[in-house]
Formats: sequence, structure tokens, C-alpha cells
Amino acid sequence: MGFVCVDCLKPVRRPAHRPYAIMPVPLLDVNAQNLPLESKFQQVFLRVLRSGQFILGPEVENFEKAIANYTKSRHALGVSSGTDAILLALMALQIGHGDEVLVPTFTFFATAGCVSRVGATPVFVDVCPLCFNMDVRDAARKLTRRTKAVIPVHLFGQAACMDEILTLAEKRGLRVIEDAAQALGAEWRGRPCGSMGHFGTFSFFPSKNLGGFGDAGALITQDEALAERARILRTHGANPKYFHQFVGANFRIDPLQTAMLMVKLPMCDSYAARRRANAQYYTQKLLNLEGVVQATPPHCPCTLGSSSESTIIPKGTRLVLPVECPGKTHIWNQYTLRVMGGSPARDALKAHLQAAGIGCEIYYPLTLDQQACFASTPSSSRRGCENSHLLASQVLSIPIYPELTTDQKDEVIACISDWLKSGKQLSL
Ligand SMILES: *Cc1c(COP(=O)(O)O)cnc(C)c1O
Repeated sequence: MGFVCVDCLKPVRRPAHRPYAIMPVPLLDVNAQNLPLESKFQQVFLRVLRSGQFILGPEVENFEKAIANYTKSRHALGVSSGTDAILLALMALQIGHGDEVLVPTFTFFATAGCVSRVGATPVFVDVCPLCFNMDVRDAARKLTRRTKAVIPVHLFGQAACMDEILTLAEKRGLRVIEDAAQALGAEWRGRPCGSMGHFGTFSFFPSKNLGGFGDAGALITQDEALAERARILRTHGANPKYFHQFVGANFRIDPLQTAMLMVKLPMCDSYAARRRANAQYYTQKLLNLEGVVQATPPHCPCTLGSSSESTIIPKGTRLVLPVECPGKTHIWNQYTLRVMGGSPARDALKAHLQAAGIGCEIYYPLTLDQQACFASTPSSSRRGCENSHLLASQVLSIPIYPELTTDQKDEVIACISDWLKSGKQLSL
């Protein structure tokens, strides 16, 4: 069953003690997903090789149609990465020097890095401790006359509160770029993530739900003129070739990449369903353990406009499990625990899991307002990010990829259970 007893060397279904586990559980196993499709990838490779077309062309156009279709959007553009998708969106919206852009401070670096790269100022917004996404009330507090855009991130595969964000944006004439890098296939009240703003951006980095073969990304929009501008900017701003209306760059996706991604795109929903089932399994089993609670969506401050943390988390809680909030279809790019007791407790659980061969990672150990490279942004753009700072000291993501076996999930649960039992004295 993947384990042997180290005393008698006979196979055992489940190890009795941690050191007996010999089945590692990686945080992600790309081979488990890709190798069963090996012969299809080989066919696709031969097709592209023999086509002799390695820059844009029909393979890329097919993929773009499929992504537009999958996200119920009018236009899709394949690009070089999820980061470049954000950069290209900002460039197409002509955001630059003197402009401020609201970004959640608890996210991957690219969300804010791109804002700086176009010469604008990222303004860091706190996040909701329950859904991990932009706190719209804090976003409203940080509006100024210079605010030109907002970049909600659908973190870990769950939608930000888009109704509130779109209402705010409309009221103040803001451009909206949805960073849906982790949320291809996720929905907000039935609407696909990425399809609601002026632009939506996706990443096909191997750890994302549609994991590619190197760096790649996509941009979607419902606006014909914006789509056209982004298309021109993707190839150095040239239209026609060698005649440059704007300064663009090379943001192209490869035909080989799109052809390979086309093999996996039809499986996206079933991958998400399996991630969902894994999340349900974890939640159901972990909730049986003492000191474990699930985040309570009715208390989500970004939908409710109230609630302090102390009313949400019962005393004696050691772990808070993530939750799917009402109206949000979660695709579980990450299953992220909150470890009460801050970084000493969290780091101890991380070390405990890693010692047992279980992959886990801190997404993200530092918020963006805390990054050295943003130390010179005005402090007014960094204040009031306490929830995010707390989360950065608590979060730990555990393996959730679709191909996890039941034994592997049980191994993760058993290991967390061990840690909870052994560390009672550390309890709050
Ligand atoms: C992965 C990711 C990106 C960047 O995508 P790349 O393809 O790695 O450039 C941007 N934002 C978020 C939230 C991400 O998770």
C-alpha cells in the first residue's frame, strides 16, 4: 500500500508511527497528471514540429478560442506568463506614472510588481481573514484622486467579493483587472473569474490548476478595443508589422505550449472536481480533531461589514480550515490552513510535516507592503494591513493536487493529528 513496517518489512496499510511512513506526499506531482497523457503530448509535439510554425498562428488561435469559450468571454489572448498578462493589461489600459492601483497586500508578488513596472504606485489593501481576498472596505478607505485601477486577486482559487469591487469601481470610474492566475474555472455567483473586469489574467505555471510546460499565461476581456490594443502590444506595439503605434514588448505564448495545454484544458473541470473532493475529505476528517475549526463564512467581513476575529475563532483553537464562501465556486488551487499561535507554531507544523516527507509551503510568508522593494512607497499606501500581517504568520498550504490518493491524504491527516497531540502545551 506504499508503506512497510520498518521492523518486519511487511507491507502495512497505514503506518502506526510517523517514522514508518515511506510514502512521501509531495506538495505537487506534475508527473502524476502529465505522464498518463504522454502519448497525446507526443502526437501534439509531432504535429507542431511538422507544421514548422513556432510563433503564433493557428495553434495559438485555437487555444485562444477555447479559453474564451471556457471563461464565457468575447476575447482571449495567449501570453508569455501570468505576470506578463497583468503587465499587458496595465499597459493596454494606459496606466502609468502618477496613477495609483489598489492591490491586495496578501498575494503573489506579480500583482504589485507589474504596477511598479508600468511606473504606477501600488496601494496595498488588507484582506479578509476568512476568504483571504481583498477587503473591499479597506479598498474604499484607500481611494484617492489618483486611483485609476483595482486588481482583485482570486487567491487560492476562490473569487474575491466581485459585486462589491465592481460597484466601487463603477462609482469611482476605476479600471478592474482580475488577477485570476489561481482561479481558472472558479466562479462568483455563476460568473467565471476573470470575465467580470476590464481584463482577467491567468497563469499556466505548472502549479496552477491548468498547469503548463514552462511559463505561459492568458488575458481575457469583453472589450473589442482593449483586446485589439493588447494584441498589438503583445508584439512590440506593431500594427502593421514594423510600424509601431505604441511601445510594446514580446509577450507571446508558444504554439507548442498552447497545443500541449489544449490536451489538458478539457480536463480542467474534472481536475477541479478532484481538488474539491480532496478539500472536502480533509475538512471532514480534520474537523474530528480537537482544536480544529472551519472558518465561518457568515462572518466573512468583506460581505458582512462587521465581525472582529475574536468573535469568529473559539478559544483553544489550534487550526482553522479554509472554507468555500456562499456564491463562490472554489477550485482549490491551494488548501491553506491557519495555524494559531503565529509563526512559531506554524513553522513547527511545517517542520513536522516535512520531516515525515509531506510537502507543504507558506503562501505567503511576507505581505507585499512588507517587501523591501516597496519600502519607499508612501506609508499612506501601506497602513492598516493587520489582517494580512497576521495571515502571513499563520498560513500553511498542504497537498491538494487532483491525483492525491486516499492513502496520501490519510497520511497528511495522521501527521497533522500527531502534531496536534504532541504539541498540546503550545496551545493558545
Ligand atoms: C502565479 C501567479 C501570478 C504570476 O503568474 P506567472 O505565470 O508565474 O507569471 C500572478 N498572480 C498570482 C496571484 C499568481 O498566483
